[in-house]
Amino acid sequence: MYSQEKTPMKKPVCQERGGNARTERKSAATAKDFALRRVRGPDKVTRPYMKIVVLLGGPGSGKGTIATRLVAADRTFRHVSSGDLLREAVRLQTDAGREADGYMKRGELVPDELVAAMIREWMGRSGEGASTLLLDGFPRTVRQAEILDETAAGCGAELSAAVLLEVDDATLFDRIAGRRGCPGCGAGYHVTNIPPKREGVCDVCGSALVTRKDDSFETVRNRLEVYRNQTLPLIDFYRARGVLRRVAGTGPIEGSVDRVRCAI
Ligand code: AMP
Repeated sequence: MYSQEKTPMKKPVCQERGGNARTERKSAATAKDFALRRVRGPDKVTRPYMKIVVLLGGPGSGKGTIATRLVAADRTFRHVSSGDLLREAVRLQTDAGREADGYMKRGELVPDELVAAMIREWMGRSGEGASTLLLDGFPRTVRQAEILDETAAGCGAELSAAVLLEVDDATLFDRIAGRRGCPGCGAGYHVTNIPPKREGVCDVCGSALVTRKDDSFETVRNRLEVYRNQTLPLIDFYRARGVLRRVAGTGPIEGSVDRVRCAI
C-alpha cells in the first residue's frame, strides 16, 4: 500500500551513496554532463541531449504514479505508459488495438514489434523541449530493450538509468485490488491509499472511476508470472550495461518518488 504500508522508509538512494549505495552502474554521467552534452542529429542541427529512464517493476509497483509525479514537478520530463498507449488503441479500435486486445485480456505480452512501433512513434513526437523521457512498461523483453537502443540512437537520446522498483507480491496484489482509474482523464487512484475526494468520482474531471479489466485476480497472477519470465531478464541486461538502479517501492509514495528522483 502507498500510505498505510508499515515498511519503514528507506533513506533516498542519493543519501545512501556514501557507504551503502544500491545503485549499480559502472560509469554514469552526472546530470550536469547530460545537460551540457550536445548531439548532432542527421539534419546537422545541434539539439539538446535527452536522457531516457526506464522504469521496471511488476504490475502495481507504482511506475505510473511515480512518473506522473516526477512530470508534475519538472515540465521538461515526459512520461509514456505502453499500457496506456495500448488501451487507447483498443478503445479506438485501431488495427494495432484490435490485435493487442486478446493478449491484454489474458494478461500476456503483446508482440514486441507492435508495442515498439507505438513507442517509436511517441518518442518521435515527444522530444521537443524534453530533458528526460520516462518509459513506464516498456521495454518488457530483452528484444524490446534492443529495439529501444536503436530507436534512442536514431533520435539523439541515450538510456541513462533503468530503475527497478522493488515491491513484494502481497503488496502488489493489495495495490491492484484497490486500484481505480479515470476513463476520462487517466488519473489513477487507490480506494484506501490514494482515495478520490468523493468515492468513485474523479477529482480532476468528475467521471465515474473504473477498475481495469485486466486487474482481476486471475489476470494479475498471470501478469506477475509473465513479468517474472519475460521482464526480469532485463535486470541482467541493464546490470551488464551499468545502468541498473534498485529502489524500494514500498512505504509512502512520496518516499518512492524521492528515491527514484535521486536514482536518475
Ligand atoms: P500495464 O498497463 O503496463 O500493466 O500493461 C497492461 C497490458 O498491456 C500488459 O499486461 C500487456 O498485455 C500489455 N503491454 C503493456 N506494455 C507492454 C509491452 N512493453 N510489451 C508487451 N505488452 C505490453
